[in-house]
Amino acid sequence: MRIGIIGAGQLGQMLGEAAHELGHECLFLDPSENPPASSVGEVVRAAFDDVSALAEIASRTDVITYEFENVPVDALRELADRIGIFPPLGALEQAQDRLKEKRLFESLDIPLPAFRAIDSAEDLERAASDIGLPLVLKTRRFGYDGKGQFVLRSIDDCARAVEELGGRGLIAEAFVPFDFEVSVIGVRSQSGEIAVWPLTENQHDNGILSVSRAPLDDAALEDQARSYVQRMLEDLDYVGVLALELFVAAGALLANEFAPRVHNSGHWTIEGAATRQFANHILAVTGDSPRSTEAAGHAGMLNLIGDIPAAARQLDLPNATLHDYGKSARPGRKLGHITVVAGSAAERDEMLEGIM
Ligand code: AMP
Repeated sequence: MRIGIIGAGQLGQMLGEAAHELGHECLFLDPSENPPASSVGEVVRAAFDDVSALAEIASRTDVITYEFENVPVDALRELADRIGIFPPLGALEQAQDRLKEKRLFESLDIPLPAFRAIDSAEDLERAASDIGLPLVLKTRRFGYDGKGQFVLRSIDDCARAVEELGGRGLIAEAFVPFDFEVSVIGVRSQSGEIAVWPLTENQHDNGILSVSRAPLDDAALEDQARSYVQRMLEDLDYVGVLALELFVAAGALLANEFAPRVHNSGHWTIEGAATRQFANHILAVTGDSPRSTEAAGHAGMLNLIGDIPAAARQLDLPNATLHDYGKSARPGRKLGHITVVAGSAAERDEMLEGIM
């Protein structure tokens, strides 16, 4: 099949590689010059909301998917009666707005931190008195990797916090003193088959994912997380890969956010699972069944942010793989990652320590 992919970053590149191996071809849409996925398929160079470029993608492909969640839903909706778009736009729409996302968690009985919609300093003062401090104030839309956030520790800072984030269209949520963070990644096919990868533990640095480890050896947490992602996949009549990020606090899970796409915290599945997230996503959007999501050992993934150190390029360790996205260096930019796979969690952690 020919698959249209909106976005040609590293996720698009990894989707494209999986698609090729499964016998498909990809056509990407991306405004940037020479994006990572140009190594795996033709890129139509235009803005994501360029109606004629989107129409061109739709006319030249059999199905459309996307690699990031800030795709304009209205522009895609125009195409929806002509071509299948997966994951469904309803899921994308809810993931784009933190308020809708949290209401979805609530409606599915997935526990989450207390939250309030905020459109003024007064709203925030009220939220602080209802929920208590600290609060995390976030923009409802277009926030990612911790951008568009303010941790409110004093009631005196309400006006400044609201102003700094644009004055309205915000959400305040309880600050969670979490023990650690996890993500659970699941996939659902067009006929409703579901497969879920083992639970992944994630460490963030300045709001950006830095290290993932999987599987997390905690059967109770894993069962719970699995049931949450399954509920979401079914409720959203979802097709493709979905990643749910959660906090673990006092032994319980609290949902933070979800991504209607393949996810950075699932990169370990390339070497560390029977089937990688990218392959199962492609299988789902092209109408096939998901394949085994079982772990193939104990995997660790280290993001290379801002630069790829020379030592990483010369890495000569068995069971360690460097992925270089071929992007130019820039502070805070994800340029690549290293995955290690070991026979035990202790050995995996030792390998990660050696590289970090
Ligand atoms: P987000 O963009 O919502 O994923 O937030 C980025 C990171 O900020 C998360 O992975 C957490 O490490 C941290 N964070 C976000 N929300 C909260 C919260 N309510 N309590 C504590 N830490 C948070």
